[in-house]
Amino acid sequence: LLTSDGATRPTIFAEMTALATRSGAVNLGQGFPDEPGPPAVTAEASKAILDGVNQYPPGPGTPRLRQAIADHQLRHYGLRPDPDREVLVTTGATEAIAAAVLALAGPGDEVLTLEPYYDSYAATIALAGARHTRAALRPGPDGWRLDLESLRSAVGDRTRVILLNSPHNPTGAVLTAAELSEVARLARAHDAIVVTDEVYEHLTYDGVTHIPIATRAGMADRTLTISSAGKSFSVTGWKIGWVSGPAPLVDAVRAVKQFLTYTSGAPFQPAVALALDLETTDGPDAHWLRGLRASLARRRDQLSEGLRAAGLPPVPAAGTYFVMADATALLTGPLAGTGISTGAELCRRLPELCGVVAVPATAFTTAGSPVTESLRRWVRFTFVKSEATIAEAMQRLTRLK
Ligand code: PMP
Ligand code: GLN
Repeated sequence: LLTSDGATRPTIFAEMTALATRSGAVNLGQGFPDEPGPPAVTAEASKAILDGVNQYPPGPGTPRLRQAIADHQLRHYGLRPDPDREVLVTTGATEAIAAAVLALAGPGDEVLTLEPYYDSYAATIALAGARHTRAALRPGPDGWRLDLESLRSAVGDRTRVILLNSPHNPTGAVLTAAELSEVARLARAHDAIVVTDEVYEHLTYDGVTHIPIATRAGMADRTLTISSAGKSFSVTGWKIGWVSGPAPLVDAVRAVKQFLTYTSGAPFQPAVALALDLETTDGPDAHWLRGLRASLARRRDQLSEGLRAAGLPPVPAAGTYFVMADATALLTGPLAGTGISTGAELCRRLPELCGVVAVPATAFTTAGSPVTESLRRWVRFTFVKSEATIAEAMQRLTRLK
């Protein structure tokens, strides 16, 4: 069951980060920042540990954090989850996704994702014993767009869950109002539940804004919205996530969560509550998110220009930490005759060829699928690294030409 989806292998991120560490290559593979989060936030976690906030917190999350999450949903999106019954704190978004899929889908059910997709989705759907169906994202001149034909043909009456992700890893796509409306229409027509992974909700660029599908007509009742602190506050190792939505659905997720981890990181919960509330204060980090967004937009541009100059044209990314680039010209030009013909082979050899680590697009697709075939020669790079690191990596990549 699991090996058929690769779930028992080490994840691509573990493999590529180990390769970077071993070879001393610049790691543009795994997406984690090399700069710290807001000082007041990290200080709050240290203080909590020293103050003795080190035993099991309440299973659903501390009341203060649940309130901060509910306030955040209201402030940004006009959503009004009840902090007591409609918000659950989890061990990262990863646990929220797994607990939601395990709670809602089983053998005989289909769970639809976009393809490419974040790698934990396929493994989680396999753990639930459900069938994984997929709708394609396709590259275009302005970014990646959801193929609505492929979406319509993938949704049916067995579709129990539509597991959405926007802003989208690995493509950097931010789903448009029109795309979301079509997903919403299909979910209503087929009585499917939408589980939406919005961990990059604050990382959008060029004036593009993130739209939670829960805000679309008729969707609040059938949507579980998931996010986490890792990306918004540059604390990816803290693993504090959350899910909000209608009480019966959140109850179902809680029922699974209690036997996966029981509770989540006590001293991090007050720190994440403080982080979410920062923008309501006039303290030094009140504009943290705006600053992060602006700085990431610059680094995205730097990476995109560097990739283009190195012969790896990227597709514009409207959000997240990532861009995907087409390595075809490199593979069929300068690298012809080296025996390297796919993105996967390229990523395995890049450290030795030029001292850079990246992740092949096919780490986010299903073996044998048409999307896998179309992305055979594509590679994902992260730009959540310092400008100096990106500059060094781009200089190294240019040597391949
Ligand atoms: N979903 C997506 C799309 C991600 O990129 C990540 C980060 N790797 C996660 C979920 C996991 O988030 P967390 O670290 O909060 O579990
Ligand atoms: N979200 C990050 C990425 O896609 C990290 C994933 C991970 O380490 N599991 O690179």
